[in-house]
Amino acid sequence: MGKSSKDKRDAYYRLAKEQGWRARSAFKLIQIDEQFNLFDGVTRVVDLCAAPGSWSQVLSRILIKGESFGRRAWEEKQRRERRIAAEAAGVIQDEIHQDELEITLKPREGVKIVAVDLQPMSPLDGITTIKADITNPLTIPRILQALDPETYNSDTSDGGHPVDLVISDGAPDVTGLHDLDIYVQAQLLFAALNLALRVLKPGGKFVAKIFRAKDIDLIYAQLRCFFEIVHCAKPRSSRASSLEAFVVCEGFNMPKGYRLDPEKPLGLGANRPQRDEGESLKDKEGFVDRQRRTVKDDGVTILEFESDEEDENRWIAPFVACGDLSAFDSDATYHLPKDRVSLDPVQPPTAPPYKRALELRRQQGGLYGKTTKAPAK
Ligand code: SAM
Repeated sequence: MGKSSKDKRDAYYRLAKEQGWRARSAFKLIQIDEQFNLFDGVTRVVDLCAAPGSWSQVLSRILIKGESFGRRAWEEKQRRERRIAAEAAGVIQDEIHQDELEITLKPREGVKIVAVDLQPMSPLDGITTIKADITNPLTIPRILQALDPETYNSDTSDGGHPVDLVISDGAPDVTGLHDLDIYVQAQLLFAALNLALRVLKPGGKFVAKIFRAKDIDLIYAQLRCFFEIVHCAKPRSSRASSLEAFVVCEGFNMPKGYRLDPEKPLGLGANRPQRDEGESLKDKEGFVDRQRRTVKDDGVTILEFESDEEDENRWIAPFVACGDLSAFDSDATYHLPKDRVSLDPVQPPTAPPYKRALELRRQQGGLYGKTTKAPAK
């Protein structure tokens, strides 16, 4: 499919190139921030599965450069224009106008951003990039060391809990086998969560991509053991036709006595804790979670699941659509002017998994090889 047809089919793909974002995913993070005020008070962030880096670009532009985007930027622009008009009419003095201008550019102090991906990522100003697998427990000390090289203790692998926000846009290479893709995605989510539990400050936030598939409520319930608030967010820039959504978890609170064990990370696999008697968790409406939390004699907290018979007790995270209704619809096709020039991607992938296939194709003289003609339509 040619570039221009993708331009028409996907408004956010086009907009990303126009605005200098490395990927259209940037709009997903911006729209989640618009809804949840994600970056409020945030200075230390870990961006997991970050390549090619559009989420890191958003972090860099909001936290390091102090820019604003989306609805917030629009509101600030409106306010500024009103001020300028009032000033022109002699109502407001110069220093207030200056004050207003500062609202749009507010770099934060002490910002530290670490981006991690399996793929190499082109550098971004002020961001430390690590090429690593988030499912590997050894990645955690590398992140902690990158966050605070001076205070990190390599003997104990202790870097404290210095992070305000962990974001993860992790996605495996899709196989097309639906169940397998959903399973691998869930494993990435648990890897991201395990990592977040090791680095987040009390009260910290966690945002991660999910596929809203069968049994997603098990994941919501597990998240609610660690976070006071869990939402399922669907940004307008994420296609409505896709199962993709994002969990937005706020108010990190490690359950009392819960022991993190890198050898037995949290997940849906065989390491699922054993059933035991214990207190049930109730939400505000009085529904009992499918997951129970049990405190054993030695003070270790066990997390476990209820059986499928208790379906009426399943807890579903509130679903929140993010992004203005006036924003582009990611499922719509837009008509473009004929004289429109299609832009190149902002940052071509550095080492895409399909690189070898492209090289082979080039060596063989194109898609159908030197000697073979393209099949007739
Ligand atoms: N948020 C990114 C952005 O805005 O540019 C896009 C992320 S892309 C949808 C998904 C990324 O997940 C890919 O770059 C892939 O390499 C990465 N990924 C998949 N499995 C991973 C793993 N186990 N560890 C680290 N990164 C992983």
